[in-house]
Amino acid sequence: MSTAPLPLHNISRLENFGHSLKRVAYVFRPEHTDELPALFEQAGRAGLTIGLRGAGRSYGDAALNAGHIVLDLRGLTRILDWDADTGIIRAEPGVTIEQLWRHALPQGWWPPVVPGTMFPTLGGCLAANIHGKNNWQAGPIGEHVLAFEAALPNGQQVTCSPQQNSELFYSMISGMGLLGVFTSITLQLKKVHSTHVRVTGWTQPNLAGMLAEVDANKDEDYIVGWLDGCARGSALGRGQLHRATYVHADEAPPTRSNLDLPASIMGIPKAILPPLMAPFVNNFGVGLVNFAKYTANRVLENHKSYLQSLVEFNFLLDYIPGWERIYGRNGLVQHQSFIPAAAAESVYREVLQLAQRRGLPPYLSVLKRHRPDKFLLSHAVDGYSLALDFRVPSDPARLVALAAELDAIVLAGGGRFYFAKDGMLSAEHTQQFLGAATLAKLSELKHQTDPQHLLQHDLFRRALAS
Ligand SMILES: Cc1cc2nc3c(=O)[nH]c(=O)nc-3n(C[C@H](O)[C@H](O)[C@H](O)COP(=O)(O)OP(=O)(O)OC[C@H]3O[C@@H](n4cnc5c(N)ncnc54)[C@H](O)[C@@H]3O)c2cc1C
Repeated sequence: MSTAPLPLHNISRLENFGHSLKRVAYVFRPEHTDELPALFEQAGRAGLTIGLRGAGRSYGDAALNAGHIVLDLRGLTRILDWDADTGIIRAEPGVTIEQLWRHALPQGWWPPVVPGTMFPTLGGCLAANIHGKNNWQAGPIGEHVLAFEAALPNGQQVTCSPQQNSELFYSMISGMGLLGVFTSITLQLKKVHSTHVRVTGWTQPNLAGMLAEVDANKDEDYIVGWLDGCARGSALGRGQLHRATYVHADEAPPTRSNLDLPASIMGIPKAILPPLMAPFVNNFGVGLVNFAKYTANRVLENHKSYLQSLVEFNFLLDYIPGWERIYGRNGLVQHQSFIPAAAAESVYREVLQLAQRRGLPPYLSVLKRHRPDKFLLSHAVDGYSLALDFRVPSDPARLVALAAELDAIVLAGGGRFYFAKDGMLSAEHTQQFLGAATLAKLSELKHQTDPQHLLQHDLFRRALAS
């Protein structure tokens, strides 16, 4: 096949959220969805593949496509329809979670499922089928999608819903941008009577206690645990829990005032926090900070209940913009595993102990409760997830080796993985967790929607290409 070269000025360097990967690609930024068919044709003529990218907030390589084309879809930011009576919104895929809540919250509606950050796009959230701290209650975001429209690389434009083209609906949502491009998304938002939730915080002295408490509170609107990944022995897996419930206007009248995250934390301006935190980003420093935090919370936050805005509760990780940079030059990676409830304690005990033995304790560890869903590349189980943030050491091979060991422990416990967070899973381990039937279905659908295999990314070639 003869190929047509692409303009050199489109060449850019892209990174993953954790800044552990740096890749060069031809980057195109469409501003209208009707530009997509021509871009597919152009890629075909150039003999290159296309990777889709929203806000680039995936921790691993899901939005990177080294040496090929990346379509940066952040220019597709129109809200196409909005009904403040029903809470149904139709939007382009580059609309962010932040744009969504800023648009809808003043009128009493909130995105039913949000990740721990407000910056991802709707397209990226559907492709990964994100979950929130309310996964047990609300399921993944896909369960709140009424319909979407998509441009397929085979030239077709399709509308999908649970009733129409349902197989594609349940596969493109979770499908990591490998089957087509979402061009509009219709989402049912959740009615809220206040801009605030009632939050209760408390601690547990070990892993068994954390798991038991997350399970006991899974019917609350939100429940999340923060583990001290450095604690050992009988304190292994100790941590802090936060549960939150929606409240009525009588308890907390909706505020019309500024709902932005606070500009300072404990009186310290946010901008100067990263340099102040950087000296503690090592095993000793994190261990010390975790110990201080756990002890302080045990005393100060023991079952204390307070009102917090939905924005503050859900987007704790956005308080300090660019916090991920404090992990240094090699960046960070996340390992998130999903384990059936019965196996969770023994698997997570092994996972935490192994990471500590290898000298690579996780610096941030988040525990959630999940339930299964029916999307093709689902990460969910009836059980728990534990998301572990690791600093990439000066010899990254140590972390790669640890990740492979952790993956084997997770698989032996019947666990699953999440492509939005993953950057190291091998093709063999992917096959074990997804199973041959799911991979065959993905391949069959890809053959129909994308016969030339135009849609690819680094994650696809690493873990999913058969
Ligand atoms: C601090 C932080 C906290 C997080 N917390 C959570 C959490 O609590 N729960 C959770 O589930 N996730 C969480 N995430 C992960 C994040 O929600 C997902 O990675 C999400 O996919 C990011 O969206 P994005 O717009 O940045 O997409 P990108 O990272 O740019 O892309 C993700 C995938 O979406 C595909 N894609 C993008 N746009 C389209 C489109 N229009 N059509 C088809 N495919 C498309 C891409 O090909 C890619 O495979 C968190 C991430 C961060 C950085």
